[in-house]
Amino acid sequence: MNIHEYQAKALLRDAGLPVLRGDAAFSVEQAVAAWDKFQVPLVAVKAQIHAGGRGAGHFEGAGGDEAGKQTDKQTDKQTGKQTGKGGGVRLCRTRDEVQANSESMLGRVLVTKQTGKSGRRVGRLYIEEGGAIERELYLSLLVDRQSAAVVVIASASGGIDIEDVAKKTPNLIHRTKIGIDGYSSYHGRKLAFALGLSGESVKHFSKLLQKLSELFRELDASLLEINPLVLQPDGKLLVMDAKMTFDDNALFRQPAIESLRDVEEEEPSEREANEVGLSYIKLDGTIACMVNGAGLAMATMDIVQNFGGSPANFLDVGGGADKDRVETAFRIILRDKAVEAILVNIFGGIMRCDIIAEGIVAAASKLGLSVPLVVRLQGTNFERGKEILASSSLNIIAAETLADAAEKAVAAAQGTNKSS
Ligand code: GDP
Ligand code: MN
Repeated sequence: MNIHEYQAKALLRDAGLPVLRGDAAFSVEQAVAAWDKFQVPLVAVKAQIHAGGRGAGHFEGAGGDEAGKQTDKQTDKQTGKQTGKGGGVRLCRTRDEVQANSESMLGRVLVTKQTGKSGRRVGRLYIEEGGAIERELYLSLLVDRQSAAVVVIASASGGIDIEDVAKKTPNLIHRTKIGIDGYSSYHGRKLAFALGLSGESVKHFSKLLQKLSELFRELDASLLEINPLVLQPDGKLLVMDAKMTFDDNALFRQPAIESLRDVEEEEPSEREANEVGLSYIKLDGTIACMVNGAGLAMATMDIVQNFGGSPANFLDVGGGADKDRVETAFRIILRDKAVEAILVNIFGGIMRCDIIAEGIVAAASKLGLSVPLVVRLQGTNFERGKEILASSSLNIIAAETLADAAEKAVAAAQGTNKSS
């Protein structure tokens, strides 16, 4: 689960990390109230969405966005860099600028490198005191499954997309592993020197990393990214952006984190799937997949790609799927207008193929099948399952092997394409 920047910053502030004063605003009035409260010469008005790259992003249909254009001239002078024209991070020096920029962001759709073309609607802003920047650094902690440790990644090249840094100047990225024993001052010193810090800044950095790694573990986080971590002219550090992701499997013991959930940021279909125990992730392709087991689901997606198709989703119905769950899965799949064919690939183990077949028939007759359906059943009770499908009045394309199934699904999707 992801949370917003302002929520992550509140957690960090409470843990004693250096974060400037800031308030969330759900309306223009609240944004202006924050300006009035802080009484500072400069605030940053920041769009709150669960995606990065906001500074360089743009608002949909923002042609006439005078507020964005005006503040950005000042932004460029101030930082000499990237907050793009009319993006999701704007520096404001007057009450009127705060008002105009809040008006031109709230309720509008922000498109960034990380949101995809459809962008995200901005429902919340964060108004924060402006901070002085000497250098922008990058710092993140994440769970590395391979080494079963928390890995800390740091770079002297912060404030920009870390993937770009990794591609163009991989030598500027430094890593260290924090094992089961937790943080030790060695980790802090090592990375501080790699970042080119000196004097008191080394101590500030070590303290910061220690607190972050403790918080990371305490809150069952899976990612904590600070980009930029700002080195200020006085040698102190400042958390200027914060992104946090938490392990969904640990949310049951993190009620305070769970309460920060913003359902507006979640794909409605993914939420519905979650509620009935399906693992569903929407993708951009045209072939819907319904599979049992995460590994088989991934293999199915791969083989669809191999035959020139593109999966519309990842969907694992799980080991204990029943008729209702299969029906919900179908309903979710059919709601996606991009879907041109459905591929059901079930390997019956604990899961019985006849139950799945009954579920398919029930769901398809109830919901109506608007696209071709390819079904491959193997394993427990697969003969019985095939009989059920064959004796139904549904137009089902049967397949034997996984390759056969994928090929038929790709062909069926192309057929839909031509006829439409
Ligand atoms: P992101 O683009 O979504 O990653 O949003 P960030 O919060 O990282 O903001 C983008 C950039 O805006 C930062 O790298 C900074 O250069 C600049 N920025 C953000 N907040 C402030 C601020 O309070 N003061 C100044 N001077 N610059 C800021
Ligand atoms: Mn950032």
